[in-house]
Amino acid sequence: MIEINKKQDCCGCTACEAICPKDAIVMKEDNEGFLYPTVDKSRCVECNACYMVCPIQSPVTEEEKPQKAYLVQHSDEKVRLDSSAGGAFTAIATVVLQKGGVVFGAAYDENFHVQHTYVETVNELKRFRNSKYVQSKLGDSFCLVKDFLKKDRWVCFSGTPCQIEGLSKFLRKPYEKLILVDVVCHGIPSPLVWNKYLEYQEKSFPNPDNIRFRDKFYGYKYSTMSIIQDGKNVYHAGSQLDPMLRAFFSDTCDRPSCYMCPFKKRYRVSDFTIWDCFSVYDFDKKLDDDKGTTRVLCHSPKGADLIQEVKEYAKCEEVSSDKLVAGVKEMFESVPMNPKRTVFMTDAANLSGKELFEKYYPVTNKVKVKTAIRKMLLVTGIYGTMKKYLNRVRGR
Ligand SMILES: Cc1cc2nc3c(=O)[nH]c(=O)nc-3n(C[C@H](O)[C@H](O)[C@H](O)COP(=O)(O)OP(=O)(O)OC[C@H]3O[C@@H](n4cnc5c(N)ncnc54)[C@H](O)[C@@H]3O)c2cc1C
Ligand code: SF4
Ligand code: SF4
Ligand code: SF4
Repeated sequence: MIEINKKQDCCGCTACEAICPKDAIVMKEDNEGFLYPTVDKSRCVECNACYMVCPIQSPVTEEEKPQKAYLVQHSDEKVRLDSSAGGAFTAIATVVLQKGGVVFGAAYDENFHVQHTYVETVNELKRFRNSKYVQSKLGDSFCLVKDFLKKDRWVCFSGTPCQIEGLSKFLRKPYEKLILVDVVCHGIPSPLVWNKYLEYQEKSFPNPDNIRFRDKFYGYKYSTMSIIQDGKNVYHAGSQLDPMLRAFFSDTCDRPSCYMCPFKKRYRVSDFTIWDCFSVYDFDKKLDDDKGTTRVLCHSPKGADLIQEVKEYAKCEEVSSDKLVAGVKEMFESVPMNPKRTVFMTDAANLSGKELFEKYYPVTNKVKVKTAIRKMLLVTGIYGTMKKYLNRVRGR
């Protein structure tokens, strides 16, 4: 029977809950807003299925295999600008929908809470576009995936690497019509902190149409958190100013498992791993138009076949897989826990959004000056050149 003694030993993938033959496991929220399994011992028959399915307790061995690598830009400029990077996810998902399939991904509900759901039309894919840096609620997604596969439907499932490994273990066998897409994952912030952020912004920007973590208001090289109201971009702030982005990028509110993530690796159970390519000029200067490019690492022959069909919807330039992954820190290393995490998360449970963010991420004169300088560099075009240089120094 699954037992979580240390919080870092559970990524919240729900595989144990989904596999339990006695419905003895329920995912319950802790005081940081993350879900963990709890077992009703009176129902448990000690079959151990929950332990065996767990991608952390019974991990998959990483096995080297042939890989193909691509730089992808969606052909529809609107789709590309809407996406975090180059819109590769939409192109892959479109191919699956054209085969009569269903696509699962992370979307907002009507209250901007992040949850996994599925869609069956190309138009609805916009719900999945753009990264949401908040752990999504999977609900009964894993069981739904199995139901669709049993009905012989094509299924594309996208998520964080831990969600994909959990799903793959839950399904137990490979399915010809299943396409798994994971992201390179920095870490996943707390839904409780996200709720505090929503509360913090609500007074100034009530009833938004959309909130975008990765808006290209200033271009791809400098994305902002943006709030869209009545079709207008009414708030846009970058990672040095917006408190949610500051909390995310300073590793203050991630799930405990993210600080010792066992899913940081090159060879994965997914068909595709997708992530950003800010240094696209190092591959091909012609692709560097500041509208976004996705790096796509293809892990399976099925994925390699599908890419041929993706070419109908997106520009796909094949590159060396070694070059694609070289220097990608977030693929191989866990983020370090911010020393302030414990106090920040305790305060998150007790303070209002305004109190929390003004205490930890105040808009000081230093922040104001940094923001003004960044805007000036953006307007004059110097920012892009500086970022190129910095990315080269950091090997990204
Ligand atoms: C939590 C998180 C951390 C990331 N960290 C990095 C990083 O460190 N470095 C890097 O280069 N790229 C990172 N990415 C990936 C990057 O942000 C883009 O998602 C990726 O480049 C694909 O872009 P796209 O334009 O092809 O697709 P997009 O249109 O942006 O598609 C977004 C895809 O991500 C999925 N998704 C969005 N939010 C979530 C969520 N909360 N949980 C699970 N799945 C989600 C959607 O289902 C969809 O499949 C991260 C993404 C997420 C969600
Ligand atoms: S041991 Fe079996 S019955 Fe008990 S909780 Fe785990 S999966 Fe359910
Ligand atoms: S990592 Fe997944 S399978 Fe393992 S205990 Fe947590 S929710 Fe269950
Ligand atoms: S960092 Fe690791 S544990 Fe955290 S969400 Fe990403 S894949 Fe899961």
